[in-house]
Amino acid sequence: MLSTLPRTYTSKLQANLPVSPITVSELSAQLRSGEISSVELTQDYLQRIERSELNAFISVSADSALAEAQTADAKRAQGDDHPLLGIPVAHKDIFCIEGTLTTCGSKILHNFIAPYTATVIQNMQNQGLVSLGKTNMDEFAMGSSNENSYYGSVTNPWSSAGEQLVPGGSSGGSAAAVAAGLAPAATGTDTGGSIRQPAAFCNLTGLKPSYGRCSRYGMIAFASSLDQAGPLTHTAADAALLLNSMAGFDTRDATSLDTPAEDFTRHLDDSIDGLIIGMPSEFFSSDLDPEVASIVEAAIKSLESLGAIVKQVSLPNSHLALPSYYVIAPAEASSNLSRFDGVRYGHRAEQYTDLVDMYTRTRTEGFGDEVKRRIMIGTYALSSGYYDAYYAQAQKLRRLIADDFNSAFEQCDLIVGPTTPAPAFPHGSKTEDPVAMYLNDIFTIPANLAGLPAASTPAGFTKAGLPVGLHLIGPYLQEAKLLNAVHRYQQETDWHLRSAPGAAATESA
Ligand code: GLN
Repeated sequence: MLSTLPRTYTSKLQANLPVSPITVSELSAQLRSGEISSVELTQDYLQRIERSELNAFISVSADSALAEAQTADAKRAQGDDHPLLGIPVAHKDIFCIEGTLTTCGSKILHNFIAPYTATVIQNMQNQGLVSLGKTNMDEFAMGSSNENSYYGSVTNPWSSAGEQLVPGGSSGGSAAAVAAGLAPAATGTDTGGSIRQPAAFCNLTGLKPSYGRCSRYGMIAFASSLDQAGPLTHTAADAALLLNSMAGFDTRDATSLDTPAEDFTRHLDDSIDGLIIGMPSEFFSSDLDPEVASIVEAAIKSLESLGAIVKQVSLPNSHLALPSYYVIAPAEASSNLSRFDGVRYGHRAEQYTDLVDMYTRTRTEGFGDEVKRRIMIGTYALSSGYYDAYYAQAQKLRRLIADDFNSAFEQCDLIVGPTTPAPAFPHGSKTEDPVAMYLNDIFTIPANLAGLPAASTPAGFTKAGLPVGLHLIGPYLQEAKLLNAVHRYQQETDWHLRSAPGAAATESA
């Protein structure tokens, strides 16, 4: 239904120009001016989702989305002028939404209808955002390719003909959906890189806020001391708008931060003249794909041309991040996932002899291989006699890593590097080698361990046409500063405005 597409979009199509992605900010202006209605917009996105073959969604809530859009239009007619009123978005299937299927990418929750709504989603609904549906993800957010989903893998819309690439993970469905124009923005979660790595693979802006910024209530727990919700968008300006709607103190999450509400858009346009950017040598080792290295170096030059000052800094313990994470995250997961036992909700084995047999069969049938691997590693690391050798040691490394950031931020305002060591890879190429898969998050995990805000922005393309992400890490609670640098960079470059080949196909269908 191109007739109901926003006008700027249609005209670009008619002029046969490359279609640049439509942003939340542009849609917001068109909704405000009355050029389009939320119902029209929602219908368009629902149709695009239906036509898409990327497997980006696990479930689509067409009826409730249209009802929410109608309510938004009615509020708009009564004078409500909220910038996000009536904007459709997609949500990672890790967030509970009352009355909707919430699977977390797992068979064990294939029949779980959430009885309540996650605070992040409730906050967004309160501001009038429309929920299009729930996006595909690695099971319980464990993975970097979306190949660990019970609901099948997702295709990266940047795949070229003949080679199907992964969208990254675990928020792979959200990233593919936004990159393909199936939603203008989506929510994700990031425990070790699951917003930023798929953002890098799909040419999006991905923001992991400071730990505690967004409530974890109603977000299915993977590793509670690391999990954080955040947006996947085309631009930093959109990420700021979305974060405004997601963040906030919540008494139902004991780790939620009781800080005054902030407007994360307020510093977007500030000059970055004199901003000191730290370049840790540890993020530019010889293992880095040379094309990624040169793209990231060029991006850092662009920041310099805007007045930023680049300084060498050191994060000497960053090589310990991955080993520390792969003890702490599985340990917390083994505890969090013990609730999935077939008793109260979710899948239950049909045949069993006694209670213990029921637990065993339910969990054997319900969990996939990667989740089982993490539960076993985590249970081992927490077991009596091993706790001090593994879990306690990993927590000490975590402290060292956080201290490194504290020292680095005495010398610089933000830290930059590549988001991932290499661009998106073909389906199946790393599934047999868990360590190769884990290495995808080598640059993103340190920020999770230290609880810091971090973002990935599109920064260029390899010769094969694959997007590369620039990673920026900020001091605790400095999302506004982080978004300012990303926004200024995006004003200077147009990488984030390039549309995926898969998105154009969706549009012309
Ligand atoms: N890929 C990492 C893992 O598998 C991170 C996942 C995440 O951030 N949820 O644990």
